[in-house]
Amino acid sequence: MRFASIGFRFFLLVIAAALGLAIYNWGRGHPQDLPWTRLSLADPIGPFTHMKIARLHRQFATCRALLDGGGEDYVVLPPQNSGPHCGYADGVRLESSRDFSYKPRAEVSCPVAVGLFLWEKQIVEPAAIRHFGVPVRRIDTFGSYACRNMRGGREGWLSEHAHANAIDVAAFRLADGRRVGVASDWTGDGRDAAFLHEVRDGACGMFSTVLSPDYNSLHRDHLHLDQAARGGWSFCR
Ligand SMILES: [Zn+2]
Repeated sequence: MRFASIGFRFFLLVIAAALGLAIYNWGRGHPQDLPWTRLSLADPIGPFTHMKIARLHRQFATCRALLDGGGEDYVVLPPQNSGPHCGYADGVRLESSRDFSYKPRAEVSCPVAVGLFLWEKQIVEPAAIRHFGVPVRRIDTFGSYACRNMRGGREGWLSEHAHANAIDVAAFRLADGRRVGVASDWTGDGRDAAFLHEVRDGACGMFSTVLSPDYNSLHRDHLHLDQAARGGWSFCR
């Protein structure tokens, strides 16, 4: 009996070790699916990607190293302090490349820049190729940094825009000259609407808040993408 008990414990130990080894090996092949692994811009989007990006709010050097590693062309912006509840210390401006740009040039917090990098490469470009057969050359925005409250009112929570933690995307310019705009093309059964819904849904993987025309009429003409420092689960609608 005693021998059986020891044998059984040994058996359990072997099972536990095998299980641990299997999880370790699986995790090495799927770092994006584990919450404790380091973020890499080369990895696919996983369930913890947006949380790892939110943690970069307190790690400007780490955040910049990620952009450097990804080959993003940017300049560090001087810190802004425009009032008691406005400003940022981790702003970057994304420079235009021959193939891709933001208009106006995106001036955002570094975690938003990381989110945009992943969104552009892993969501927007593949979706554009699939739906239209050509890449996106330019993303038109309503800008990022604004010292104002949420919903534009004078009261309420201060918007993530007040810390350059958000950007409002209005339209996509394709390589063939076509323009796909949130205001003009969100509804309908066509490929323009399908593309817009797909890039909205995809943004939920790397931004903590994504608001579209489905959320309310204030967002009828843009996608609001933000990287709240609180982290946690993302809110997408
Ligand atoms: Zn916004």
